[in-house]
Amino acid sequence: MEKIIDGKKLSLKLKEHIKNRSEDLYKLTGKRPKLTVIMVGNNQASKVYVSNKEKSCNEVGIHSNVLHYDNIDTDKLIEIIKELNEDKDVNGILVQLPLSSNIDEKKVIEAIDPIKDVDGFHPYNTGKLWINGDPYFYPCTPYGIYKLLIENNVEISGKNAVIIGRSNIVGKPIASILLKNDATVTICHSKTSDLSSYTLKADILIAAVGKPYFVKKDMVKEGAVVIDVGINRIIEDGKNKIVGDVDYNDVFDKVSKITPVPGGVGPMTIAVLLENTLKAFMIQNNIK
Ligand code: NDP
Repeated sequence: MEKIIDGKKLSLKLKEHIKNRSEDLYKLTGKRPKLTVIMVGNNQASKVYVSNKEKSCNEVGIHSNVLHYDNIDTDKLIEIIKELNEDKDVNGILVQLPLSSNIDEKKVIEAIDPIKDVDGFHPYNTGKLWINGDPYFYPCTPYGIYKLLIENNVEISGKNAVIIGRSNIVGKPIASILLKNDATVTICHSKTSDLSSYTLKADILIAAVGKPYFVKKDMVKEGAVVIDVGINRIIEDGKNKIVGDVDYNDVFDKVSKITPVPGGVGPMTIAVLLENTLKAFMIQNNIK
């Protein structure tokens, strides 16, 4: 059985499917799905993410555009989002986070029409996710993780799933998805005392901490499935590198399956975003 969970491979398969579907929809409607990304400020990592999203949209026949603002306030940004909500040509609206500190992120996210909220961060969608598992859109990274688990035949029901990290974009929503799929879920965070006592019980361990090589062998149960969400930019041996939150080489022999960084969760996040944009188009055009 394959030990490395290959997110790149699965994301390519999903993208191929989305491309075909998008072509079929074009033949049917004469229109293509459109994603508008809003970016504020000059965060270098955000710039890379936004350009990857644009590139991926192009690859699968989804139109995309980026609205980039250096200086903007909350009210103006909300005004722009309201215009996009009304624009019938725009199916998905994504506000690239983090926003600059002068902007009220919560208000901005809440301004997006839930039916165009392809990131799945609007309280309507997060609330629906927790209450009955039925949002318009699942958040991209957590749903990408779920797809990786399913595709790699990882049993979720009845398993102990431990998540390190409680952010709104990763930790909490993946907890909700795994709970819905009958795992027993524990969420750990920076105030958790004796973290290892939890992680050592994990059949499925999800690391979303934002600290390079944080998870070591002595924190992992023998045979665990380890999902590494971390994207940490570090300099190692004089080279710029992207590494995960898990010390991959250290834990490798002990685990049954593991996602690499890069090539694990990252590519799945974008694939789910494309899928969500296609879904937005279909909902808004009453296509089943
Ligand atoms: P956040 O910084 O929002 O959250 C980090 C979480 O880790 C917090 O809940 C924090 O606890 C917890 N934490 C920090 N230190 C410890 C510790 N010593 N022990 C236990 N818990 C700790 O990060 P995100 O959730 O946004 O992202 C996590 C990682 O995933 C980052 O590396 C990010 O780059 C990456 N990422 C990757 C994506 C992908 O597509 N692959 C998408 C999104 C994120 P507390 O709440 O108490 O502060």
